[in-house]
Amino acid sequence: MTLKELQEELSCAGLPRFRAGQVFSWLHRGAESFEEMTDISKDLRLMLSERYEIARARAVQKRVSKDGTVKYLFQLNDGELIESVLMNYRHGYSICISTQVGCKMNCSFCATGKSGFSRDLLPSEMLSQIQAAQLDEDIRISNVVLMGMGEPLDNYENVLRFLELVSSPEGMNIGMRHISLSTCGIVDRIYELAEKKLQLTLSVSLHAPNDEIRNRTMPVNKRWNVEELLKACRFYAKKTGRRISFEYAMISGVNDSDRCAMELSSRLRGMPAHVNLIPVNDVTGAGYRKSDIARQKRFISILERGGCTATVRRTLGADIEASCGQLRRKHKGGNGYEG
Ligand code: SAH
Repeated sequence: MTLKELQEELSCAGLPRFRAGQVFSWLHRGAESFEEMTDISKDLRLMLSERYEIARARAVQKRVSKDGTVKYLFQLNDGELIESVLMNYRHGYSICISTQVGCKMNCSFCATGKSGFSRDLLPSEMLSQIQAAQLDEDIRISNVVLMGMGEPLDNYENVLRFLELVSSPEGMNIGMRHISLSTCGIVDRIYELAEKKLQLTLSVSLHAPNDEIRNRTMPVNKRWNVEELLKACRFYAKKTGRRISFEYAMISGVNDSDRCAMELSSRLRGMPAHVNLIPVNDVTGAGYRKSDIARQKRFISILERGGCTATVRRTLGADIEASCGQLRRKHKGGNGYEG
C-alpha cells in the first residue's frame, strides 16, 4: 500500500493518520514483524499482526564473489524461491531484483525460463529483496535494476506499484533515474509505460538484429517482431526523452557476425540508443559460446562506425553463478543445466 492507502486502511480501524506513517516507515526500513514496531502500543501491534502479513525475503543461500558481488537465494512467505544480486560499484550499491517466480518467456539462452513459471511477485516482495540485502550487509542501496528472474512488463501492475513505493520519499526514496527496467519486448506495455513518462532507464533485450535470428532465440519475437519492437522503442524515447539501452548477448556464430553488427546499427539509426554487449553465459546447456574479445571489439567498431554507441558489460559474479535463474535451479535439485 502507498502511504495514503495505508492511512485510509488504518483509519477504518479507527486509528489516527500518524499511526499509518509510523507503520509505513517501519515497513520501509525492513521491519520483519509487527513486534519490532516499538513506538506503537502492544494492543495495536497485536491487532496488526492478526490482520496483516509482512512480506519477507529470507536468505536461504548467500554466495559472495571474489569481486564482491553477492548473490542471494531468497525464500518468500509461501516457500517460493527467487534470486537477487547485489553489486558494489564505485558510485554505490546496485541491486538486481526479480519480478516473478520463474518466467514465461523461455528465451533459449536464459536459465530462468527453463524451470517454468510459478507466479507474479507482489510489490512488497520486490521491496523486500532490497530491504533484506540492505539489512544483511548493513548498507544503503542507491540503484535498482529489474533484471532478475521474470519479465517485469508481464507483471505490469505490480511493477508499477513497486516503482511508486520504492521511489516514495517516505519510503526508500530511490529516484526513478536510479532505476532500470529490462524487458524482452512486451510491445503493448512499452506503449503504456511511455505514456507515464517515468524517468527510469528502459533496457530492451534485443539480442538479434533481425527476425530470422530473434525468432530462434526469443519466442516473444513471434508475437511482436523486431520492427514492431523498435517502433515502440522510438515512441518510448520520444515520449520520455530518455535514451533506450539495448542489451545484446553475443553468442559466437549466432548473432555476432560483421553483418549482424551492420544490420543492428542501421536498424537503430536515428534513435537515442546505447548498446550493451554481454558475452553470453552458457547456462542452459544449449552449447552457446561467448564471442571472443577480438570479435567483441570488431562488433563495437562496426556499430560505432554506423553511429551507434556500444560498450561491453563488465561481468561480475561469474564464480558464484550470478546469472538469472542459475542458483534456483541448482537448489531445486537440478545441476544448473537443462536435462
Ligand atoms: N525479462 C527481462 C529481464 C530479465 S533477464 C528481459 O528479458 O530483459 C535480464 C537480462 O539478462 C536480459 O537481457 C536477458 O536477455 C539476459 N540474459 C539472460 N540469460 C542470459 C545469458 N545466459 N547470457 C547473457 N545474458 C542473459
